[in-house]
Amino acid sequence: MIDKWDQKPAESHCQDICATAGGNKPKRVLTPEQKARQKTVRAARLKTPEGRALHAARQRTWYRNTSAEQKARHLVWMRAKHARLRRNRTPEQRAEQRVREATTSHAYHTRKRSAPGRHTAADLVRLCAQQGGRCAAPHCGASLTVSCTIDHKLPLSRGGSNYPDNLQLLCKSCNDSKSARTMDEWLQTRKETSNG
Ligand SMILES: [Zn+2]
Repeated sequence: MIDKWDQKPAESHCQDICATAGGNKPKRVLTPEQKARQKTVRAARLKTPEGRALHAARQRTWYRNTSAEQKARHLVWMRAKHARLRRNRTPEQRAEQRVREATTSHAYHTRKRSAPGRHTAADLVRLCAQQGGRCAAPHCGASLTVSCTIDHKLPLSRGGSNYPDNLQLLCKSCNDSKSARTMDEWLQTRKETSNG
């Protein structure tokens, strides 16, 4: 059987494989230092418009030159990679993620729009650190890693603002229970309920 590659010189053979087989070309083996360097260079590249254009052009080339099968394999690899990154997050990163998710929810934006004051995701991350990553209810202290909601100390429905000083982070269970009350009112009701 005659392979069409047999008729070509070695160098052109290699180039053709690279051009037609996309990601099937042999992988360069990098030392940890080289990998770290590559990461820095790539991150820096994405910070300039020219770098982003170059990156986009390379992605287009990759997309054009890659077979459907290879793309599918790449997708599986990407998903596994992101799952691995998610699993390896530190508790702080998880708490921060919760906070960021809370700031982007639809209900949050609706309430926020109609109330005075504003705060940023950075304010909430700071708040989370101030609370030691724990629910602000004195009797609770649940980890905000598990569930995290933004509570208005003076509820929005009673004229409370969106300024950071009117905010605290509660676990969902506490926030649902507290509802449109101040912390004092809520704790008072809890006391009465447990006594009665
Ligand atoms: Zn709680």
